[in-house]
Amino acid sequence: MKNLTLILASFAFLNSWANDLFIIQTPQKPVIIKPKPQLISESSLESIVRASKFAEKLMKADEGGWSGNGGGSRDESDNIWFIGDSSIKYCFSKDSQFPLSGIELSELISSSITEWMKFFKDYNLVDNDLAGGYTRERMNSFQFHDSQNRKLTTEFIYTNDCSEARLQFLFGIENKVISNYKKYATDHPYGLAVRQKYDHKNYAHSGIIWIDNFTKDKKEIKHMLLHELGHIFGMKHDSVPVMDEEMIKFLGKKKEFRSQFIGKIESDAWTYGLKVNHPIVMTSTKGRKPRRRRNSQSFRVNRFCDNIPSYSSNRKIPNKILKGLNLNKRDCHKLTLTYVDKIKNNKKVKYKFILELEELISKQKIVFNGAFKPSKGNRPKIEGPGVVTRLINNNSKKKKNIFKKLTLEKAPNMIPLTGSFTLGSEDFAAKMTSHKGLVIELFIPSAKSWWTFKTHYNQN
Ligand SMILES: [Zn+2]
Repeated sequence: MKNLTLILASFAFLNSWANDLFIIQTPQKPVIIKPKPQLISESSLESIVRASKFAEKLMKADEGGWSGNGGGSRDESDNIWFIGDSSIKYCFSKDSQFPLSGIELSELISSSITEWMKFFKDYNLVDNDLAGGYTRERMNSFQFHDSQNRKLTTEFIYTNDCSEARLQFLFGIENKVISNYKKYATDHPYGLAVRQKYDHKNYAHSGIIWIDNFTKDKKEIKHMLLHELGHIFGMKHDSVPVMDEEMIKFLGKKKEFRSQFIGKIESDAWTYGLKVNHPIVMTSTKGRKPRRRRNSQSFRVNRFCDNIPSYSSNRKIPNKILKGLNLNKRDCHKLTLTYVDKIKNNKKVKYKFILELEELISKQKIVFNGAFKPSKGNRPKIEGPGVVTRLINNNSKKKKNIFKKLTLEKAPNMIPLTGSFTLGSEDFAAKMTSHKGLVIELFIPSAKSWWTFKTHYNQN
């Protein structure tokens, strides 16, 4: 017997209700009556017909231009799916065996979208138009082919009717598009984001997010959902922890590592960008802890530090540095990097940092002051979510059409940086690069060697 429990349909954004509100004017003040949420039964969510109708409609509208996490060419593959002001309607279907109920999934989709929007807001990307506003003047002459500017679409509304949806979520259930695509896909065994060929004229796409029934853990399901949503919002692999291409190592039955950041976009050691006064824990092990402890000698030595996720054994620091800094081999340390300020002097930019080492037992603190500038001979790319599409160059006499990338980020990435950390009267040359979070290399003259700190994500 099918379960006939009725569930409430949830709406991702309260703002989107605004259009549906009935405002009744009374002499004193308006009374706002919210429309009754629609009801949908669990059994109809579990219907394969519901899952398949959407695929049929989409396959009819498209001549086989389907692609996973992307479009026809490699360049377009990370394009943001939905740009412009129109709100996007979504529906979902699930398998009866899927471990979460319809209401739980409905809440999970809506909270995951809200978390991504908060992320884009935190990094000031929500209000940016794709065209214009760049710090590189040359980039500001590029416009969309129709001269309309566009932002990231931020409004996603649930609908019970999959025939009017542009986005469909499938949980543990497959339709034709997904089964066809899976034959060629090798990327993610637990989830997929598949859309139609990129439409460079109207920017109107339809697509499917598929999440396999790979775990009973709600956090892991959320992690997969956040990852696939990240693709929809144009986030590249390895841009933030949730977009880690190797996430399979943290999820499902065959996981190699345990992480306290499952179901979260960013971690304490790896953020999307450097935020002022936001310390990054360079010694965090929370993101990557072996699932099973090896019973080796070195592990026994480190076990004390290993139980405190932000600390690492002092034995990981080269000997000469231990002596130079007067650190105890048996102690543990926590290393944090804080971006303090950006100083502009004429055309030159300087970035100020604080690198703080704190011993666990002795409570000794060592504070380095860092001053960095963009690495010479390097022209950092303007990264971040964007769209590779047909553009017009206003500065060109012929106004010819070209394919180029417009991004929500308006300035080039500040990494790589070159500079130094100062401790007392001593200067240590250093560089900062990024690979799944920050990598810092510090030159120790007395040891004639580099001391490298990586977070636990970017260790090889
Ligand atoms: Zn992916």
